[in-house]
Amino acid sequence: MGESVQLLHEAALDMLLNMPGLEQRSRSVIEKRLYSLRAGMAGERKVLQYLFNLNLPVEVLWDVNLRLAPRHYAQIDVLVLTPFHAMIYEAKNMADRLRFESDPSRLDKLDAEGRLVASYECPMLQLQEEMANLRQWFYDHDIACAVDGAVVMTGSAMIEKPPRGGKIFRIRQIRNHILGDYHAGGGRTQNEIRELAEYIRNRNEPYMPFPLIEKVDLAATELFWKPVCPKCWRKLERVTKRRWVCRCGWETTDPYTHTLERWFLLRSSSITNEQVQHLFGMSQTAAANLLRKYPLKKVGQSKTTTYIWRYKGRLRRLPK
Ligand SMILES: [Zn+2]
Repeated sequence: MGESVQLLHEAALDMLLNMPGLEQRSRSVIEKRLYSLRAGMAGERKVLQYLFNLNLPVEVLWDVNLRLAPRHYAQIDVLVLTPFHAMIYEAKNMADRLRFESDPSRLDKLDAEGRLVASYECPMLQLQEEMANLRQWFYDHDIACAVDGAVVMTGSAMIEKPPRGGKIFRIRQIRNHILGDYHAGGGRTQNEIRELAEYIRNRNEPYMPFPLIEKVDLAATELFWKPVCPKCWRKLERVTKRRWVCRCGWETTDPYTHTLERWFLLRSSSITNEQVQHLFGMSQTAAANLLRKYPLKKVGQSKTTTYIWRYKGRLRRLPK
């Protein structure tokens, strides 16, 4: 479901890091973002793998974004549907020594001597907020379903002062948490659980972090958009009609797919014929022929025509 968006997001951040012309200031912002995205993906993946291996008759959903109001979403990493509950598992893939503190609620990271290294938003608060959001969403959609949840620490962190009443789990505690709903009979049938999962999937609006330069506050003019070498990221030179070569020796007959994908992921979800002409130094007819080779949606007429990409997986040419 959302896995492909996260993988695209990771690829886009990686592209951005390698963009010629990127300033150091922007580089460190992007590196941090990539680091936290990868940590989040790793935590989520561990929880999902564990759940799939349990082989319980539950429905598992991930990267669930349900709209409550314009620009306000319930954002859930992992959601498990049982006969009695919708369980939210908020994965935190962290190592080190962590201490829950209050006033204000936060998670402090400490070094071996107990000195404060960093402070994070309290994951227990995040969980409670998502649980409240999901309850609201169920209420708005006339669905009677109790919501429960836990913060799951998937890394090797040492936890100090876990908040009373809140559920902070190690990954192996998930099993008993879910099984608790199967001890008593009743609740939703297997079929009803599947139907609820389908209902949620159909309304899920995965978060799209594209085009990425808007999200990291970069201007399009700061970056180089023409074809670059995927090995060393220097500018590609066109030496014959079909051959493009790099100073490092790499060469290709298709610099187009990468360059267009980079454009869509980083700069804009749409492109015009004129922009394609400029990117590759080609004629209007050649640009139109090229654009036809990709799964893009054509919007508008003649001069105002734009081509839109929907971010479904990596950009590939259509089969001939
Ligand atoms: Zn090269």
